[in-house]
Amino acid sequence: MPSGDTILTIYIAGAIAVAVGLGIWRGFFQARKIQPGGFRLRTFRNEIFFAVITLTVSATLLVWTRQYFDAQGWITFRSGTAPWYVIGLEYALYFFLFDTWFYWGHRLMHVEPIYKWVHKVHHWSTSPNPLTTFSETPMEAIINGIFVTLFVAVFPVHDATMALIAPTAPLMGLYVHSGFEFLPRWWNRSWLSKWFITATFHDQHHKYFRYNFGGYTPIWDYLCGTNRSKYEADFDKLKDRAARSRKVQDAAGLAEG
Ligand SMILES: [Zn+2]
Repeated sequence: MPSGDTILTIYIAGAIAVAVGLGIWRGFFQARKIQPGGFRLRTFRNEIFFAVITLTVSATLLVWTRQYFDAQGWITFRSGTAPWYVIGLEYALYFFLFDTWFYWGHRLMHVEPIYKWVHKVHHWSTSPNPLTTFSETPMEAIINGIFVTLFVAVFPVHDATMALIAPTAPLMGLYVHSGFEFLPRWWNRSWLSKWFITATFHDQHHKYFRYNFGGYTPIWDYLCGTNRSKYEADFDKLKDRAARSRKVQDAAGLAEG
């Protein structure tokens, strides 16, 4: 049975370890914040309000629509196993078609008076945070959300593909609105990964408003000339900042050691 003093020492040592860990953790995030100091509590409170309303209303309407499609026999899934490349192709079809749907719907939402009624709420945050994902009007959530129902009605994909499709939109949304850039520097230089958007890419849509409309890829932005030309350079600057912060931390670590 350890003595009271030993337990106290363990607690103090634990508290110090947690504090040091949190400090490093905070530094890690701080160095990767896309817009330092961009968070506004007032905007965040308004976002909570709209997220709750929209999630309730749009989820209800989307579920009803889906049930209606099911009742009509318009949606069937292929059950059983399928080779991985079939699942991959089905998923890629969804991914690129949704990206197209989202890009053009999003461009349209930026035209007045549609912007004012449908999309303005989502643009309250010029420096997005994860909750911004769901802070939108029910109309916008339905326009984007109805795509999966229409897609599976037109293309009878496998169950396994649907299991991959279902979480994609919310996860991508949370990721691009995170407010932090975690991807490595080579991301925009590799011929493959550069065709998938980063958090910085979408963050710049919120900051500059007229560029970077793509939801999953920058393909349509490049084709239509709506990509922000300084995006790659800004991404590199963010990576420089993260690298500098790492060097400072390493130097501090060496000095302490
Ligand atoms: Zn927008």
